[in-house]
Amino acid sequence: MTTRAKDTLGSTIAAIDGKGYGAYKQVAGSYDFGDHTLHIDYVQGDPFASPSRLRAVFPPEITSLPTNILQPAIRRLAAADFLNRRLHREVRSISRDRGSGKSGAVRILRPGQCILERTSLQIDEAGTVVARFTAGLPAAGRRVLGRQAAEMLLGDIPRALRSVLAPATGELEALRGHALLAEDSAALRDGLEERGLIAFIPAGAVLPRRSGVDDRPLAASQAVAFEAPDGLMVTLEAPNRGQVVGMGVPRGITLIVGGGYHGKSTLLRAIESGIYDHIDGDGRELAVTVPDAVKIRAEDGRAVASVDISNFIIDLPLGEDTAHFSTANASGSTSQAAAIAEALEVGACCLLIDEDTSATNFMIRDARMQALVQDADEPITPFIDRARQLYEELGVSTVIVVGGAGDYFDVADTVIGMRRYLPDDLTSGAKQIAERFRTERAHEGGPWSPLLGRVPDPASIDAQKGRKSVSIKVQTSTRVLFGMQELELSALEQLVEEAQVRAIAQAMVHAAGRWLDGRRTLRAALEGLMEEVRQRGLDTIDSRQPGDYAQFRIHELAAALGRLRTLRVRSAG
Ligand code: ADP
Ligand code: MG
Repeated sequence: MTTRAKDTLGSTIAAIDGKGYGAYKQVAGSYDFGDHTLHIDYVQGDPFASPSRLRAVFPPEITSLPTNILQPAIRRLAAADFLNRRLHREVRSISRDRGSGKSGAVRILRPGQCILERTSLQIDEAGTVVARFTAGLPAAGRRVLGRQAAEMLLGDIPRALRSVLAPATGELEALRGHALLAEDSAALRDGLEERGLIAFIPAGAVLPRRSGVDDRPLAASQAVAFEAPDGLMVTLEAPNRGQVVGMGVPRGITLIVGGGYHGKSTLLRAIESGIYDHIDGDGRELAVTVPDAVKIRAEDGRAVASVDISNFIIDLPLGEDTAHFSTANASGSTSQAAAIAEALEVGACCLLIDEDTSATNFMIRDARMQALVQDADEPITPFIDRARQLYEELGVSTVIVVGGAGDYFDVADTVIGMRRYLPDDLTSGAKQIAERFRTERAHEGGPWSPLLGRVPDPASIDAQKGRKSVSIKVQTSTRVLFGMQELELSALEQLVEEAQVRAIAQAMVHAAGRWLDGRRTLRAALEGLMEEVRQRGLDTIDSRQPGDYAQFRIHELAAALGRLRTLRVRSAG
């Protein structure tokens, strides 16, 4: 495609002033702004429709990013995250009402508390920066407002872009700090396995959040800063800031115990979120968790497609086959069992469980209940009887918040006690108590049987809606309209941005028919897709290359697929 002079854009806009909105189609194309190129990739059909998609490309000689920011890749990724944040601020300041509908609205993805790869701002190895954003082309009713369009496209937008990207080193110290923090955080995470840890929380961390709907930290004046307890204190080495002291959560089975409201769930949530690197000031900087740790919770009402839950549940009242368990309406316990089987299916190495969001009968069955209800009448083998097998036979660790069920002391390797928001190592105390008060409960369940793999039918992953071949509409940060069906993802508590939900929905469409070919197992197909994304970047999932996708894990992708109510699978082998 040829690049035209910037003035051509000005004269085209002048020529279509006052005409019908369709005339805007003429502005599509590429324009030379001297220090950068502006691509108008898609022009909206009317002022109320999805806004037009724009892309600005700034070459290395303009951005002037130093080589020690461009390499290694984690620094470059963090630098892109940083510039995205700055650009979001600038773009917001030029976005205004310039007519009907979305006229004048300028938007770029808004990053949250985590440093993520996003398609809104990308930097290549040479230092070229590509920013993708949207703009509502101005109109009064359906008439083109030429002057407003020119102000926006030739004045405000290039000014905002330049103020951040030409050069991109205007705030070099802050940019460098952001990149080095991400590098340190990623290095600490990479080092966990070698130290036999599944998570690390640095001393001084601020774990509580402002509210249930606000992921920013609680104000320092109200928060109790984290301290590492003696028995669990470790010192890790970060490449840039050197030694970091904190609490190491070892492999195996770890309980988080303590009184109500003493910070147990908050600690678990910090561990859940440690799969991502956090921005400076978040409070959870350098709190890291192994990448394949997966939060497991009950979610009654969800759909389940032929999942092997037979290690946890057999002999349901109506004789349902629990090695191929399907339902449109799972119970608390069956949904939790399915969540574990699905997580293991795609390689989870650590399960994170909170009693607050668990089905009690899935977690424990005490001695008295065992005595009253015969084993033959109870389909559930509770998690307490599988936790050690999962670790010893499959190498899968568990961190569980338990306030009530002391029977768990018997299966724990580590017990962290939370008291007034501070952790204590209660492992030996709990072991002594377990010796002194012998539990009367009998172990349930036989040997662990390997899970059956599933082969999804790609025809059942259908995002068609009416005449549209693919229709994906993100309705809230956890719900997407996938073709004709609503896909509810609020149970995937490790999703941190709406852009991940959008990307996951698109990735399912991309995978269906390519990786999900009716022969590959779900695991093989999704691993193939994730490898494609690693090699070619997130853009690979959508040929239209929109700027509103963020990176995601195989775990959330698989979990989303598993919640599609139309999904059909057959067992592998
Ligand atoms: P639990 O799971 O033990 O019942 P939570 O983790 O839900 O407790 O915490 C209870 C409340 O205390 C929440 O409102 C939480 O935000 C707050 N909180 C948790 N940790 C801290 C802390 N370190 N400093 C201040 N407030 C905290
Ligand atoms: Mg709690």
